[in-house]
Amino acid sequence: VRGADVLVNAHLNRGVGFSAEARDRLGLRGLLPPAVSSAENQVARALALIDSRPDPLGKYLELDAIRAADENLFFKLLIEHTDRFMPIVYTPTVGEVCQKFSHIYRFPRGLFVSYEDRGRVEELVANCPQEEVDVIVVTDGQRILGLGDLGMNGMGIPMGKLSLYTACAGIDPARTLPVTIDVGTNTEAYLNDPLYLGLRRERVTGDEYFALVDEFIQAARRRWPKVLIQFEDFGNHNAFELLRRYQDKILCFNDDIQGTAAVALTGVYSAVRVTKKPLAEQTFLFLGAGEAATGIANLIVDALVDEGMDRAEALKHCCLFDSKGLVTAARTGLAENKQPFAHELPECRTFLEAVRAVRPTGIVGVAAQPKAFDAAVLREMAAINERPIIFALSNPTSRAECDAETAYRETDGRALFASGSPFAPVELNGRTFVPRQGNNSYVFPGLGLGAVFAQAEWMPTGMFLAAARTLAETVSEEDLERGSLYPSLSEVRDVSMKIGVAIAEYAYEHGLARNERPADLEAAVKAFMYMPE
Ligand code: NAP
Ligand code: MN
Repeated sequence: VRGADVLVNAHLNRGVGFSAEARDRLGLRGLLPPAVSSAENQVARALALIDSRPDPLGKYLELDAIRAADENLFFKLLIEHTDRFMPIVYTPTVGEVCQKFSHIYRFPRGLFVSYEDRGRVEELVANCPQEEVDVIVVTDGQRILGLGDLGMNGMGIPMGKLSLYTACAGIDPARTLPVTIDVGTNTEAYLNDPLYLGLRRERVTGDEYFALVDEFIQAARRRWPKVLIQFEDFGNHNAFELLRRYQDKILCFNDDIQGTAAVALTGVYSAVRVTKKPLAEQTFLFLGAGEAATGIANLIVDALVDEGMDRAEALKHCCLFDSKGLVTAARTGLAENKQPFAHELPECRTFLEAVRAVRPTGIVGVAAQPKAFDAAVLREMAAINERPIIFALSNPTSRAECDAETAYRETDGRALFASGSPFAPVELNGRTFVPRQGNNSYVFPGLGLGAVFAQAEWMPTGMFLAAARTLAETVSEEDLERGSLYPSLSEVRDVSMKIGVAIAEYAYEHGLARNERPADLEAAVKAFMYMPE
């Protein structure tokens, strides 16, 4: 590739950063302003442009335009300013990006598999310019964050997640592919919106739905046999079913179920270091009984069983509260994922009643019900526990069960708090609390890195436990003293590398790898990681 073609290829273009020598070699002389910009000046110019936009969506649009022109610069910005830009390319801003996706659409990226293309998905996959793909993130847009069915507009999520794969774990951006399977949407507002860019029909369901997803998966794996497929933001029922179908057959995982589980378990490991009461003495009450809730609950059970507890006993350490109330043995018609957690408990209609009945050491909010952890719930938790564990994980911020300030204030600063979306530090009674995100971005990039590096056949539960334990080890005593149950996001690249090594090691030890273990695994994983110039 030479000349103007270089400048319109985001993978290759370095814009005004091209040296005089490169300009001559590539036939670019005259096609760029004469001065060569240093990397620092390119970053400074970009930061000023982004800062000139007061609103998060505007900042997203600037970043997105930079990405479309010069991917190297985009990832340099993301890596050098992770704390600042993670909330822009990911939750909460990515939620708004998705809601408005059809209105702000500008640059082609990724693959759209529409129901209308059934029977010829192989052709669509063949159209992708990527010769090699390491990671696919695929959604059908049915449960985007806690925002519901956004149809094709959900594409913002796979795009954002893959940006984090590169920024956090060094997956080569040229080897990533965001995918949306568009089977329609049941969101009336989009169907009536003339600018909506998705399929204008109600969602396809049942066998035809699964056949289309399967057609895509088979086509992708035929072209890229070692590809990791991450399922993202599928509706609850389909998410569990797809995982059941593919989990132990192909290299895949569902981040909402399994990634969330690993990141939440890490928070629990950090919290028990503070409470000094082992995991075996903890009981959790979940607000929500969906992908996140039962994903987390199952991994806690697996962790307890791994510590030697009987499974039947371990299950009792997790209780669920869904849209109909506390999940109990007396409930009928319970979804399969809830059944193991239906215990002998009194009927409770409100979450507060359930807190009183279960007397949990921790509550985990994953129902996208804003402000559900109100003062009464938080005070009750503080009355039952010296150090109550309060995880308000629903995203985006508008869906959080409580904010950080409320959690600390209503528990006299005793809460061990984590949230899904970011909250600023809180000053209370002369102390500063630094809440951190129980955010999947600590875990999924490293999980993917390790699995891709070792070319794992599939991803068993042990990998998610290994990820949680590895991440927990990166939380320092100083972090815990400030109320941080996770490391700083600015360390996420190093954290992802460590998780990647742990996951690859797991694959080698358990005969799941499709390549040879290098002698120095850590050095090899580091060398594998993409880094902008
Ligand atoms: P999901 O599978 O759709 O589950 C939602 C659950 O919430 C369902 O069990 C539903 O009950 C329950 N629910 C709805 N209304 C309720 C109410 N009024 N009271 C009690 N429960 C209610 O969704 P999900 O994948 O678990 O995600 C849920 C939320 O967690 C989203 O906001 C998502 O962004 C967030 N999340 C955060 C992270 C993170 O930051 N680490 C990771 C994953 C998910 P029924 O079962 O009765 O319908
Ligand atoms: Mn998700």
